[in-house]
Formats: sequence, C-alpha cells, structure tokens
Amino acid sequence: MSTDDPTAALAAVQAKIAHAAALADRKPDSVTLIAVSKTKPAEAIEPLLIAGQRAFGENRVQEAHAKWPALRDAYPGVALHLVGQLQSNKAEDAVALFDVIHSVDRPSLVTALGRAMDKHDRRPDCFLQVDIGDEPQKGGCPIADLPALLAEARAAALPVIGLMAVPPLETEAAPYFALLAKIARDHGLDALSMGMSGDYETAVMLGATHVRVGTALFGSRS
Ligand SMILES: *Cc1c(COP(=O)(O)O)cnc(C)c1O
Repeated sequence: MSTDDPTAALAAVQAKIAHAAALADRKPDSVTLIAVSKTKPAEAIEPLLIAGQRAFGENRVQEAHAKWPALRDAYPGVALHLVGQLQSNKAEDAVALFDVIHSVDRPSLVTALGRAMDKHDRRPDCFLQVDIGDEPQKGGCPIADLPALLAEARAAALPVIGLMAVPPLETEAAPYFALLAKIARDHGLDALSMGMSGDYETAVMLGATHVRVGTALFGSRS
C-alpha cells in the first residue's frame, strides 16, 4: 500500500478492520486502532491527527517524551500507548506520560509501576505481555508464570485490562492469536492487544480489541 497519503492509508486500515470485525460478527468500534508512530517525526503524525486518529503507540519513553507533549496540546483527546519493553527505572516516566502500558511482563516491573502509580496518583490501564512463542529475548511473561504475575499486578493495584503478545516472525500468527485469546478468557480478561501491519485483520477475526499498526499507516521505518 502506498503511504504517501497517510489519510488514505488510515481510511484503508479502518475499512479492513471494519470488514474483519463484521466477518466475526463484531462491531467495528470494539477494536481500537493504535497508530504506532515510533521513529516518525511530528510532521508525519500530524496528518493522522488532523484526520481524527487519537490512539497512538510509541516504544520508547524518551522518544515519546520528546514528541508528544506538544502534539497533545495541539490535538486534545490523544491516548498514548506504550507498546515497547519498559525498564523498571523508566516506570515513573511511563506512568506520567502514557495512558495505556502494553508491556507489563515481570514482577520487578509490576512493583516499580505500582509505586509510580501511587506516587503520581495516576493509573494507566495495563496489559500483561505474554511470551506467546517462547522467545524470551522479545520480552513477555512465560505462559506458565502468568497466573502469578496477574495476582501480583492486582495486589499492586495495577488496572490490568487484558493480554498483549507479539507472535514469532515468519510464521502463521493465527494460532498464537487464538492461544492468547484462550489464555485471556481463562483468566477473565477482556482486552486483547494483538495484530500488527501484516496480520491485524487476522487478529481482529480472532478477537483483538487493540491492534498496533505502524508500517501500514506511516510507511517503512528507516
Ligand atoms: C513497532 C511495533 C508495532 C507496529 O509494527 P508494524 O509492523 O510496523 O505495524 C506493533 N507492536 C509493537 C510491540 C511494536 O514494537
């Protein structure tokens, strides 16, 4: 898809989400499109803001801090999602800046986020990130450790709304999406952050409530 025209790219992605949702007998507005703007400058982001897009994703706290305060002032109503791995020593900055954190994956981070939320009296929604393909280098909690992590997160008063995962590259994503959906159901969690540019329609058919789409909206990252 050409992304010379970001507004057209946005409309195309929205239409595909609506179609996939309809196939699964879901309402299009049950899916939040997160425009992943990591590495992209403000000039690339503004056309989407002008077109009405309000959910954006970044993977680095520092980069988001440099870009978003000014954009937020200019375009009220932005919800900022942290989709990348988070170091415990950045937990405070993340809590202050982001509205949703998708990468809660270990007890030490739960502790740091809990403290930061108490201190700032601000509680961003959280997804627990699951290492769905057994690839520890990507981050994510091992499936076997998830019940314990969920209990710790609840004890620390983190508002856990669902599960997030990034399936292995170069494989069929659908079985991993289905597995994540099953694990979420087993734990009574409603939200599912899954699906990227290459597979968000599949993810929506399998129950994604949040898709994280970068390249299909902004073009490739250098
Ligand atoms: C970069 C990134 C995305 C977006 O990926 P695209 O393939 O460009 O859509 C989604 N999720 C996470 C966790 C990412 O780091």
